[in-house]
Formats: sequence, structure tokens, C-alpha cells
Amino acid sequence: MKTCIFGGTFDPIHKGHIHIAKNALSQFGLDKVIFMPSGCSYMKKDVTPAIHRLNMLKLALEGSEGFEVSDLEIKREGYTYTKDTVEIFKKENPDEELYFLIGTDTLFMLEKWYEPEYLFDNLIFLVADRNDENSDKKAKELSERFNADIRFMNCDFLDISSTKIRQDICAVNYEEFEAKDIDSKVYEYIKENHLYKALSDAEMITILSSELKESRLIHTLGVIDTASALAKAYGADVRKCEKAALLHDCAKYMPKDEQIEICERNFIKLNDFERKKSALLHSKAGACLAYEKYGITDTEILDAIKYHTTGKPDMSLIEKIIFVSDFIEPGRTHSDKLPMYRMIAMADLDLVCMNVLKDTIDYLNSLNEEIDSITLETYSFYKELISKR
Ligand code: ATP
Repeated sequence: MKTCIFGGTFDPIHKGHIHIAKNALSQFGLDKVIFMPSGCSYMKKDVTPAIHRLNMLKLALEGSEGFEVSDLEIKREGYTYTKDTVEIFKKENPDEELYFLIGTDTLFMLEKWYEPEYLFDNLIFLVADRNDENSDKKAKELSERFNADIRFMNCDFLDISSTKIRQDICAVNYEEFEAKDIDSKVYEYIKENHLYKALSDAEMITILSSELKESRLIHTLGVIDTASALAKAYGADVRKCEKAALLHDCAKYMPKDEQIEICERNFIKLNDFERKKSALLHSKAGACLAYEKYGITDTEILDAIKYHTTGKPDMSLIEKIIFVSDFIEPGRTHSDKLPMYRMIAMADLDLVCMNVLKDTIDYLNSLNEEIDSITLETYSFYKELISKR
């Protein structure tokens, strides 16, 4: 068997990718080309969530003979190294002749990849022209230095890149973009999932309005107002606090199995208790949904969403603001102490955190409910912090 791995970001997959893969298949008599989207690449950090890149690949390639899509790299936690992928593949398929498809721009990067010697020992590189000068010279140099097997393909150069596609989509309305370089099904997916464009607050609110109950939307507005006031009082980033407040409950009505699934594919660990308790699950799932669906990549915002129910020891300012705002926003009426907490919050955020946690623990105890360990740890942390003053 002759198998070729085609690794890339595929953000999004375009006709240039398919063109070179088809040529590789026919010119080198390959049995299959496996498109393998990268996980958390250590060279390209600002990429679209893996699930979207994978889904777009599946849409573009469905029904194409000789092409497969693999989620091997995106399922691997942490940085993705091609060396690890090749090692796994070799172990599972020891007798296959393994190729790797790249464009000439990648040829110039290969030396910087993790353990290039291993890669050159185990892979035959197929290279498609991408109008890069001196690629012949580079291939010769690599061949001499690493004894690399590098074979150039004979195919037209299509001047298409994912970067250009993303920029073009970003620059116009979705309806105005002429999707000639990508599959129409891929473009429909991009539109449906609002990819490559930052969502405005108004667009986020429109989506949230269709996914949250009215009472939850009113609560969300209360959290935004409170978070905004606290951000101003404490000199936190008001925009970030408002965004975290807007999205803090975005996963509230997601079915439980979907909440678990979205956490798992974003490598968020869930213990048995969190899997059972939707009060805990929705905040972790919410951080993942804010990332995948609402395009939030700022980890301060995502962490504030993630910890808004339980808090965590030594919270950041934004985390504290969202945690407290969720509890004290004006629509809440569950405790007589709320007016006092609202006053304290404007002067002493750590003190109000401790009080909110104590109330939560007392309430759960009164119901004879099991209490999650992070809430208890957070309470201990803030209790100690206050007692040491
Ligand atoms: P970006 O513009 O974001 O860097 P890209 O268009 O290069 O994206 P990748 O997913 O990074 O797409 O590419 C995967 C591999 O496919 C790389 O080795 C790249 O060189 C190659 N490749 C991409 N587009 C072309 C093209 N039009 N012609 C030849 N090779 C290409």
C-alpha cells in the first residue's frame, strides 16, 4: 500500500488543496491520501476550532475516491507534532510506504519541524509548486543533509491560499463573497457557523435570544450591567467583562450529552460529579461554546465563563467579577443578604466572593446536596485570604 498523509491547517480547505491531492494520487500511484487537519499546532496558534476545520474537510471530500479524513491530530491533546503522527501510523501500518504531501512554502519550513531526521527517514515528501523561488535548491540541500527523498509533482500552480480566503470573507458581507476557490458546501458551512468574521454583540445577542429562555436573557442583561459596573469600579477591562457576562450562560440549554461532547473535544476534563450536575457542566461547556460558536479566543474571557459557577482559588479580576455578578445581579432575589452583598461588592470583591461561596455551601447543605470540591476549595482560599488581613 502507498499512503500519503496530507497534513495542514485546512482553515478552510480550498480547491488548491484538492488539486494537489488529486495530482499526487494519480502521478505517484497512491492508494489513498489522508487529509489530516492539525490539532493545536505549535506554529499556528490563531486557528479556527478544529471541529469546524474537520467538518469542512468532510463536506469538501465526501464521495471523493481515494481521499480520507483523519481526526488523529485534532484528538491529540497539546501540541501536534508530525513526528508523533508518523510514529503512530507506522506502528499501525508497518508495511505501508508512507508519503507526505506539501507545497513548496512548507519545504522551507521542514527543518524547523520537530525531529526532522525522523521525518526524512520515514517519509517520502511529495512537493507541489507554490511559486516559491529556489525550491529546487532547497530540496537538493535537504536531500544532501538528511538523505531526504523529495519528489516534485508535475501539476499547475493554483494561486489559492486559506489566508487569502479568510481575509476576503472577512472584508465583505457573506452574501457578497464570490466562493470560487472553495466548495459551495464548505461556504454554506462557513456562513452557517459565522466563520472568519468576528461576531458583533448584536449578532451574539440574536443567537443567544434564540437559544436562551426569556428569563435567562433578562438574567444575562443583569449580569452584564453588574459586571460592567464592577469592571469600572476595579479598573478591569470593561469590554472583556461585558463579553464574558453576555456569554456566561450560553450553554445553559444545550442538551447534556452535547455539553459533555463539546468539553471532551476541547480537552476540558470532567469528573463524574460534573458530568451529572448540569449546574457545573454548563459553565465548562459554555467556555467551549463561546470559543467554537461565538469565536471568542481570549482566554481571560473563556476562563471567566468556565469558572462562573464554582469560582476557583485565586481568581483573576475578571473571573471574580463574573462569578460575583452572576450571584448578585439585580434580578436575583434568592437571599435577604443580596442588598448587602451588592454594597460590599463595590468595595471589597474578595470579601463578597467569600460570602457568596459560604451562602452557596450553606444552601447546598440545607438541601443535603453533595458539594463539588472546587467550590469548597475556593471558599477555603477566600476565607483564609480574608482571615490573614
Ligand atoms: P494558510 O494560507 O493559512 O497558510 P494554506 O492555504 O497554505 O493556508 P494549509 O492548510 O496551511 O493551507 O496547507 C497545507 C499544505 O498544502 C501546505 O503544505 C501548503 O503548502 C499546501 N498548499 C496549500 N495551498 C496550496 C496551493 N494552492 N498549491 C500548492 N500547495 C498548497
